[in-house]
Amino acid sequence: MSNECLFCRIAAGEIPADIVAEGESWMAFRDIQPQAPVHLLVIPREHVESAAELDSNPALGGELLQAVAAVASQEGLYDEGFRVVTNVGERAGQSVMHLHFHVLGGRRMHWPPG
Ligand code: AMP
Repeated sequence: MSNECLFCRIAAGEIPADIVAEGESWMAFRDIQPQAPVHLLVIPREHVESAAELDSNPALGGELLQAVAAVASQEGLYDEGFRVVTNVGERAGQSVMHLHFHVLGGRRMHWPPG
């Protein structure tokens, strides 16, 4: 846990979040600036900087993707479809340097992203 890290502090319960589901190694909460009617973030409880680090921790990657699928189902996104995004590095748009999967749904998505 890093005291400097916003998502570590959310995982520790020090900063409030609208939590929708939790597992042993992960938690899912609503994005504070939603970009779609449903916009969740799935994060590992432990500090992992980005998806690039999953190279050395494939088990955690599997658990997080299982969580993504579970929360998408819980939010009723299966019929309409949904988008899963993770930004890696500042140049790709990552602003919080703690791994998170965005789960977006409830509207039509466009491609390619900007
Ligand atoms: P990214 O830009 O891919 O790193 O995504 C970071 C996301 O975290 C953005 O969509 C922000 O809106 C979201 N965010 C920042 N602070 C909070 C917070 N306190 N609670 C929930 N979501 C947050």
